[in-house]
Amino acid sequence: MESLTEQAVPTLAIVVPCYNEEDVIADTTAELLATLDELAARDRIGADSKIYYVDDGSRDATWPMLQKLASDNKRIVAVALSCNRGHQNALYAGLSQTSEDMVVSIDADLQDGPDNIAAMIDAFREGHEVVFGVRKKRDTDTWFKRMTAEGYYRLMQALGVDLVFNHADFRLMSRRAVDTLLQYPETNLFLRGMVRELGFSSTTVCYARRPRLAGESKYPLRRMLSLAWKGVTAFSIAPLRAITLLGLIAGGIALGLIVWVLIVKLLSNSVVPGWASIMVPVLFIGSVQLLCLGVIGEYLGKIYEEVKRRPRFHLREVVGGEARGHEDAR
Ligand code: UDP
Ligand code: MG
Repeated sequence: MESLTEQAVPTLAIVVPCYNEEDVIADTTAELLATLDELAARDRIGADSKIYYVDDGSRDATWPMLQKLASDNKRIVAVALSCNRGHQNALYAGLSQTSEDMVVSIDADLQDGPDNIAAMIDAFREGHEVVFGVRKKRDTDTWFKRMTAEGYYRLMQALGVDLVFNHADFRLMSRRAVDTLLQYPETNLFLRGMVRELGFSSTTVCYARRPRLAGESKYPLRRMLSLAWKGVTAFSIAPLRAITLLGLIAGGIALGLIVWVLIVKLLSNSVVPGWASIMVPVLFIGSVQLLCLGVIGEYLGKIYEEVKRRPRFHLREVVGGEARGHEDAR
């Protein structure tokens, strides 16, 4: 890479997925615009840097608000998806609309403070193409959320999935990293894992997470579990391997039972124990088989979803910019 100081100041895109965020949009916009102003004043970013809001099928006033912001301010682009596709798809859709040299993804509630973007840009200028925001303290999250998150990162580590500890989706990516990411064809998006796969030089920036500005978390337990499971099955075949192991263990136990039954029969001359010795292995093997089928089914389901090659989002409308790179050609 050429030294950036010799080039024009790189432009920045901030991508913000929004789902029912009417309570925070105004404050968020003010803070993000102030951040852009400050960074531009310090010559960290080019003047034509932009904010890309993605409305992920909100049911409240989010879209009218975004529409107005985008038509009033040429530094704001508002993108509407046809319906709610979930955070990961909305973020991906937003990334696909950018053309700037650096792209920062951030949540609408600004729990991950935009004041950290400056440090991310510094890391970018040092030559890193991906800068992960890492939550240092999570005392604004509930105890339950912290514990489940911690357990999850450990599980993923044990499964051999390379994740940045305590990194959600607040990160900076170079144009090249974004363009490379956009070539990934999978339907089940787990972006924080996929970005690791890109392999470009990366680093981290630590920060303290703030409480939600307003409104409530759009990630209830059900959605958290869904994202967690997606992360496991999209990045690891360890559960499939565990089936083989389970099968081996079940086989070993069954063999032991057979030997025991034979010994009882030969040595004690008494009748082979009946009901229990039949029912135990039958139930045991049955449950192991069901479990294994369930795991195979999960992967089969994933394969089914992937081979359909369905677009991950449809753009309904773009205000303040050109619609770019549709998914229609997939
Ligand atoms: N979000 C989205 N689509 C959804 C759910 C959430 O675009 O279906 C956005 C939401 O508006 C926010 C971000 O994803 O900008 C993270 O959501 P939230 O802050 O509610 O999650 P938490 O921080 O509690 O994990
Ligand atoms: Mg949040």
